[in-house]
Amino acid sequence: MTPHQTLKKYFGYDDFRYGQQELIDAILGRRDALGIMPTGAGKSICFQVPAIMLDGITIVVSPLISLMKDQVHALNQAGITAAFINSSLTEGQISKALQNAANNLYKLIYVAPERLVSYNFLRFAQSSNIPLVVVDEAHCISQWGNDFRPSYLSIADFVSSLQKRPTVAAFTATATPKVKEDIIEKLNLKTPLVLVSGFDRPNLNFSATGQSGKARILLDFLSTRPKDAVGIVYCSTRKQVESLEFELNSKGYRASRYHAGLSDDERRNNQDDFIHDRMNIMVATNAFGMGIDKSNVSFVVHYNMPKDIESYYQEAGRAGRDGQPADCLLLYSKKDFNTQMYFIFENDDESKTQLDPVVEQENRERNLKRLKEMWSFCESTECLRNHILRYFGEVNPPSFCGNCSNCGAEFEEIDVTIEAQKIISCIVRMKERFGAGMVIDVLKGAKNSRLRQLKLNQLSTYGISKLSSEKLSDIISVLIRLGYIFKTDEKYPILRLDKNWRTILDDDTKITMRVKKELVALPQKSHTSKVYNDELFNALKALRLKIANKNNIPAFVVFSDATLIDMCRKTPKNLDEFLNVNGVGQVKAAQYGDAFLQIISDFGHNDIEVSQNV
Ligand code: ADP
Ligand code: ZN
Repeated sequence: MTPHQTLKKYFGYDDFRYGQQELIDAILGRRDALGIMPTGAGKSICFQVPAIMLDGITIVVSPLISLMKDQVHALNQAGITAAFINSSLTEGQISKALQNAANNLYKLIYVAPERLVSYNFLRFAQSSNIPLVVVDEAHCISQWGNDFRPSYLSIADFVSSLQKRPTVAAFTATATPKVKEDIIEKLNLKTPLVLVSGFDRPNLNFSATGQSGKARILLDFLSTRPKDAVGIVYCSTRKQVESLEFELNSKGYRASRYHAGLSDDERRNNQDDFIHDRMNIMVATNAFGMGIDKSNVSFVVHYNMPKDIESYYQEAGRAGRDGQPADCLLLYSKKDFNTQMYFIFENDDESKTQLDPVVEQENRERNLKRLKEMWSFCESTECLRNHILRYFGEVNPPSFCGNCSNCGAEFEEIDVTIEAQKIISCIVRMKERFGAGMVIDVLKGAKNSRLRQLKLNQLSTYGISKLSSEKLSDIISVLIRLGYIFKTDEKYPILRLDKNWRTILDDDTKITMRVKKELVALPQKSHTSKVYNDELFNALKALRLKIANKNNIPAFVVFSDATLIDMCRKTPKNLDEFLNVNGVGQVKAAQYGDAFLQIISDFGHNDIEVSQNV
């Protein structure tokens, strides 16, 4: 069988997506490979197809229990034998799985990196035929990445301890060059094929707003979509998760919660409820979602600004994995920026406090730089998609996508020269010793005791501006960008004069700011051009849910929404036609074909009856 036939037979897809074929060819040709693709691009197929085709058993190293479980379920559904070994199993179950593996009963086995050093596992691996070792979420091997896991460092030793060196294939969604080099080096990849696929996710609509009244904005946003729309709302603190979950439930939404402060049981249950569509909104910290391969998430809201663009894009990218239009809304505020600053400086993460001080300082600087990039993304008045793609190193992405809040908004340039001059002279008079907050307080003539103690109320710039704090803060950002002032890299950053500051009073200096003309237009519910019947779609969904519940697997493991929609479009009449539906492989067709065909055919009759009656 060719890779193409394998894709069709087991996964029911007609064509490879960008990059998949190249990676598969490399792996089958015994060449190491590194696939860098955004979430939802289809990395799994790149190693699952070769694993099916190669003799022997493929080992997949994966960081998360939930991810392994879902992938193994999905493979089994598609008729591919696979198992996982992790700490959720008993010792008895583990030996059984290893015994089965040794007897060639599986094509793939998923393991956590910690497992690679266990005696029993090594014994199995060293006496088996292992053509391919796959490292999923490979950025976890790099300290430069945003999710370093020391146990990943043992993978290279494991590989070299095997009788015959397998092909090694690594996959990640993190694209920065440093991480890439680190993966190649630490995994000891031999002249790998490195494939970076486009990072664009055209079906995602991005919007960002710094308006106040986040709760209101969120509720408005939710009210424009169906009550059962599936989505994730990310918050940066546990407390925020709790209060928002409460609020949403009190407004009649079926919302669940997830953060590291909950018991293991509650976390597991809540996650299950969400994956099985018993709850449709998950309010969570960033502890939630890595490895959640739920394809029907139709929106991701960031209620707080995340720590960097990597995290943002990864989290937002959990929307629309089925290729359907989906919305990503980012609500940011200065307070979020400060919260993230706090996380950087008051690091209470145990695993990190053990780092040596030099490394720690480097980490801090790197994180600070990333945080600033995140902030300038939020404040950007240019195409948001373009901003993201440039950040990930794409060369010359289109400057207008037409599918983000900046492309949808109207802007005007306003002259802020006078206000800018006031700000600079205020900083001069304050002797470059204070942060933006204090400068703004002085300009606005705030009456607080600290200000009086420092005699700042006696300065000639005290109380000379009538603009709001937000506006002043916006102008300060412009001045920083234009090189008039800069912020020091301290916990409490200070505003200092930069190289251009003296030119502020020159006659020909004109400083303008780009502002949105009206309030940010919130994304409306994405309009799919519907060429399918809603009722049929719902009937198919109901059948899918019944099957999923009976087999105790998530609904999307049976068929994705995209596949159900394709069924509605093609309305197959027999098994052959059913196999033509995108996402229907042979095993699933044999297993579920009749049931789905029955519903489709019932619907066909209904339609005819209705039209005859009319
Ligand atoms: P990633 O691991 O890159 O985030 P997945 O491997 O989970 O992405 O794939 C995302 C979705 O895309 C899955 O539902 C998968 O079945 C689907 N998919 C993958 N490859 C193809 C393809 N060639 N054609 C159609 N759908 C695909
Ligand atoms: Zn755009």
